[in-house]
Amino acid sequence: MKTVERVTDMEFDLSKLQEAAADLAQKAVQGVNYVAQKGKETYDRLSLENELNKAQRQLGSYYYNQVRMGADHGSAMAECIANIDSIMDALSELDGAAAAVQEKGDACPVCGAEPTPDAMFCPKCGTKL
Ligand SMILES: [Zn+2]
Repeated sequence: MKTVERVTDMEFDLSKLQEAAADLAQKAVQGVNYVAQKGKETYDRLSLENELNKAQRQLGSYYYNQVRMGADHGSAMAECIANIDSIMDALSELDGAAAAVQEKGDACPVCGAEPTPDAMFCPKCGTKL
């Protein structure tokens, strides 16, 4: 009789365990998606900042040549300035998108719950935020 009870207990625990494992797997997928999204934003920002630096250096060197050597780089400089403007636009667009996400409140990377902005831990799953 005792053995049967034990088996039943074990089966019960096993199904609980499977449930927990499935839950964990789902949370892991959500976490990976979150990190991938953050990674892409960081990459976009870095490559834009890199482009901006390049364009600004280019503009500086055009300007230097123009002043020091009297070379006329006017049209190249105008093109460069337009390029810088469009990079700045893209950067502020990225900032706008990030701010919109921030406003909505950062969802928990593990369970997707939306804690209050000042919460240190997710109220649903306890993940440190
Ligand atoms: Zn959570």
